[in-house]
Amino acid sequence: MTSSISERITTIRASIPPSVRLIAVSKQVPAEVIRTAYAAGIRDFGENRIQEAASKQAELHDLPDITWHFIGHLQSNKAKKAIELFQWIHSVDNLKLAQRLNQLAQELGVHPQVCLQVKILPDPNKSGWSVSELLADLPALNQCKNLQIQGLMTIPPLGLNDAGNLSVFNRTYELAKEIESQNWPHLKMQQLSMGMSGDYQLAVQAGSTMVRLGTILFGERT
Ligand SMILES: *Cc1c(COP(=O)(O)O)cnc(C)c1O
Repeated sequence: MTSSISERITTIRASIPPSVRLIAVSKQVPAEVIRTAYAAGIRDFGENRIQEAASKQAELHDLPDITWHFIGHLQSNKAKKAIELFQWIHSVDNLKLAQRLNQLAQELGVHPQVCLQVKILPDPNKSGWSVSELLADLPALNQCKNLQIQGLMTIPPLGLNDAGNLSVFNRTYELAKEIESQNWPHLKMQQLSMGMSGDYQLAVQAGSTMVRLGTILFGERT
């Protein structure tokens, strides 16, 4: 890429509505490059490994107004660390994990914001609820009162064309509407975390409120 990070941020920001939150996915990106994105105005960063995030956060502790988003598969033995390090967890992908996070949040006296990761299409390579599993788990999720359940997160299976990706995003939007219409007191469905470098415009078209962009900002990961 010949453009600078700051130029790329400007271009992307101009191409999506101001209400859409741009999360810079900084996995495998060194702290110094995160600083560059910060200087260009980014305040939301996404990481998928607890240990890597912990060391970069330590290097960046002089930047106090960053919001950190966990976007990877979370093992339950790292759940406590995740709540300590991240304000948002986008990838809550099963009821047991949600309940564990809820318990830990109570013990720590915090109320992390989370999204429920859903698989609209079967995908052996990803974790997450199927639609029917998620609908069945809503009563139990509604009991997780120490979590601020804000909405849904999805990643389309690899290899779909644009129409296929758009359909996944549209169905995620519809699912959020359906859950919202059930009026669970502790389940908000205001946020849709969907869209990565290759498909974020489709995701925004379908109502995404948070796009998670790595490659298009920082270049190819090795
Ligand atoms: C790596 C990753 C991203 C960013 O992907 P890019 O294609 O590099 O934009 C977004 N979401 C999740 C969950 C990821 O793991």
